[in-house]
Parts: sequence; structure tokens; C-alpha cells
Amino acid sequence: MTEPDVASSDATNISMSCVRDGDDYVLNGQKWWSSGAGDPRCAVYIVMVNTPDENRSKHQQHSQVIVDAKTSGIEVLRPMQVYGHDDAPHGHMHIKFDNVRVPAENLLLGEGRGFEISQGRLGPGRIHHCMRAIGQAERALEMMCKRSMQREAFGKRLAQLGANFDIIANCRMETEQARLLCLKAAWVMDQGDARAAAPWISQIKVVAPLMALKVIDEAVQMYGAQGISQDTSLARAWTHVRTLRLADGPDAVHRRQVARAELKKYTQEKV
Ligand SMILES: Cc1cc2nc3c(=O)[nH]c(=O)nc-3n(C[C@H](O)[C@H](O)[C@H](O)COP(=O)(O)OP(=O)(O)OC[C@H]3O[C@@H](n4cnc5c(N)ncnc54)[C@H](O)[C@@H]3O)c2cc1C
Repeated sequence: MTEPDVASSDATNISMSCVRDGDDYVLNGQKWWSSGAGDPRCAVYIVMVNTPDENRSKHQQHSQVIVDAKTSGIEVLRPMQVYGHDDAPHGHMHIKFDNVRVPAENLLLGEGRGFEISQGRLGPGRIHHCMRAIGQAERALEMMCKRSMQREAFGKRLAQLGANFDIIANCRMETEQARLLCLKAAWVMDQGDARAAAPWISQIKVVAPLMALKVIDEAVQMYGAQGISQDTSLARAWTHVRTLRLADGPDAVHRRQVARAELKKYTQEKV
């Protein structure tokens, strides 16, 4: 297994090296899970690189640089698989940079401003993921209900068997709870203070995928074997939503953000 050796839960670990050499920067390192890089239309990469400077803070050690995907020294090693799917053509590529030379003017904003750029993009990106997860839950619930009214076993519709009324009701209630939390997070974002919005985005980033996974799983159950097969969209939806508990920050990292915001209400100390 070729695994780049940093935990990106903590993105301050990112170690792709980027060294100034005359009018260029020279990049060395590997990046896996580069989503979208498999698409033939992907012509440029925005690469987060390490540009260390001991005079700057921990969150000012990184920069972002635009790299033409055709630059010499770039090798796409493989598409990473998601539960066995390569997600082509989008793809989550494992890419190696070997002495990749980039014009110095391709560095965005300036050295040390990588996190500043990321924070501006990741909030809206995360809430967008959550909206789509809620949409997938809604679709799964609709499919679950239709199936439970159409199919019969033991002389009754599936809906009327066992605890299926409760399952359907719980799925509706939990979908609506997540939808309202998502709306609240979007509203806080719209107030214009990214720092204040961050813990709200983290809340929905934990809640929406967990809720959607549960609803999709219940829909799979209502479909029986068909639910895990290629004949419905449910299996694919589940694997997609499962990735959201990792991509754009694992649950634990977002819970940490939520807890720290909560604790800060009660102390002046760093938490
Ligand atoms: C489908 C998919 C697409 C992706 N696309 C991209 C992309 O386009 N660009 C990109 O840069 N990255 C992308 N990623 C990578 C993603 O951002 C990382 O997987 C994620 O940040 C977690 O990092 P890691 O995989 O290194 O896990 P690690 O950092 O090794 O973390 C593993 C586990 O450690 C535990 N952990 C970590 N921190 C804490 C904590 N503070 N408290 C408690 N437990 C903790 C959690 O259980 C966590 O799940 C993608 C990932 C997936 C699955």
C-alpha cells in the first residue's frame, strides 16, 4: 500500500514541499484523494503546499498554488476506490509530484495564506454536501414509503408489518430535524461572520450524513436484497454518503469544533 504519511484530519500536517527557486516554485510530494482530478476536463490543480516560516503562526505555514495538470513531473498513480468503486470519471486520484516547476506568480494571495483561502471555500462546500445528503435521505424515504405500500408479505403490505410505521415516522422526523439545522447553519453563514458560522457548519456536517445513512439503510432494508443491488440507487447513495463522514473533515474533528465553541462560552482560557 502506498499511503502518504500524514493525517489530514489535522491539515497543519500537510507536507507537500514547495521551495522557491528563481522565478519558480518546485513541488515535491504526494496527494491522494484529489477529488475531480480524474475528470478529463480537469486542467489545473489547486495544491496546498508547505511553505514553512518560523516567524509565522501554525496556520500560516501553508500556501496554495495553481498547477497546470500537464506540467512535467506530475504522475497520476491511481484512482482511489470508494468501497470498490473508482467514481469515474470524477475520480479521487493519487498524484505524485516530482520536482514539479510552477511559475512563482501561480501562488495564490501570498505565502502562508493557504488556510485563509481554505476556510473561505470549505464552509460553503461543507453545507452544500449536507444539503445533498438531506436530498438523498428525502429520496430514500420516498422510495421506502412507495415500496412499503406496494409489496406484500404475510398477507399485508410491508408498511403494516412489524415496526415499519415507527421506522417511517422516525425517518421523516430525523430528516426534518437535519433540514432545519442545515437552514440555521446557512442563515448564520448569511450573517457574514465566518468564525461564528463555523461551529454551526460543523454541527450539520456531523448530523446530516449520520441521519442520511440511517434513512438510506432503512430504505435498503425495506427493499430486501434489491436494496443492496445495482437495481436501485440506494446502495450507491449509501456509499457516497458514508464518505462524507470522512471527507471535508471526519466527524470527530467537527465535534471538537462544536465542543470548543460551547466551552468558550464559559472560559477565557484556550480550549
Ligand atoms: C471520497 C473522499 C474524497 C476526498 N476528497 C478530497 C479532496 O478532494 N481533497 C482533499 O484534500 N482531501 C480529500 N479527501 C481526504 C479527506 O479530507 C481526509 O480523508 C480527511 O480529512 C481525514 O483525513 P485522513 O483520511 O488522513 O484520516 P486521519 O487523519 O488518519 O483520521 C482517522 C481517524 O482518526 C480519528 N481522529 C482524527 N482526529 C481526531 C480528533 N480530533 N478527535 C478524535 N478522533 C480523531 C477519527 O476517527 C478519524 O476518522 C477525501 C476523502 C474521501 C473519503
